[in-house]
Amino acid sequence: MRIDKHLCLPISGGGGFDLTDAFDCNVFLIAAGSEWLMFDAGSGRSPERGLEVLAEDGIDPRSIRHLFLTHGHADHSGAAAHWREALGLEVHAGHATAAMVSAGDEAALSVDRARRAGVYPADYIYRACPVDHVLDLDRPVSINGVTVRPLATPGHSHDHVSYLVETPERRMLVAGDALFHGGKVAIQDIYDCDIAAVCESVRRLASIDFDALLPGHLAFSLRNGRRHADAAFAHVEALHCPPSII
Ligand SMILES: [Zn+2]
Repeated sequence: MRIDKHLCLPISGGGGFDLTDAFDCNVFLIAAGSEWLMFDAGSGRSPERGLEVLAEDGIDPRSIRHLFLTHGHADHSGAAAHWREALGLEVHAGHATAAMVSAGDEAALSVDRARRAGVYPADYIYRACPVDHVLDLDRPVSINGVTVRPLATPGHSHDHVSYLVETPERRMLVAGDALFHGGKVAIQDIYDCDIAAVCESVRRLASIDFDALLPGHLAFSLRNGRRHADAAFAHVEALHCPPSII
């Protein structure tokens, strides 16, 4: 789904816009010169449907040269192996995400737990993916005039990284599962979800200036996206955990 000339949402599942497989997170493409940067990969259950959406949007999939992962959960990283093989793109991830995704460690990624809980179907298999670039957190990556700033935002999972992406057009927060529309977060009963860390990450995101909020599920916001961080911050300041989408 083309959002504008420089921004596209080709993959989004049942927790979003129902463009592709129900288990897919929101996958955003941000233009960097003549190429596109991909943020998160989707579940990998039907990547061919993502290719159909790209064709409808007039985007050559081979112009997607870099994939940045927010965290290892399968709805975000399960298709990384497919895109790396099919498109020859380079995968970027934080240290902890890289270790789990490259090993395909289903226990560390909570895939086994999610499968037992019925979050993923019984036949879902996670495909390990090599990670080409392990990000030095807080050190920005520059690609064709676009700056991608990784921000450690643990809590939803211990490995979670958000990205502040600065283009000539706007400043965007690719928030993954750290912050959602309406000031919500995502808390679940998995081994590495940590409520205190969720709140600390909200504080961090509320201290950053950005225009657009591009979260891993539900609606995105192109202008004044900071209000969602402010709403979450108000809960944290009152000693509440912000409401969870799960
Ligand atoms: Zn997640």
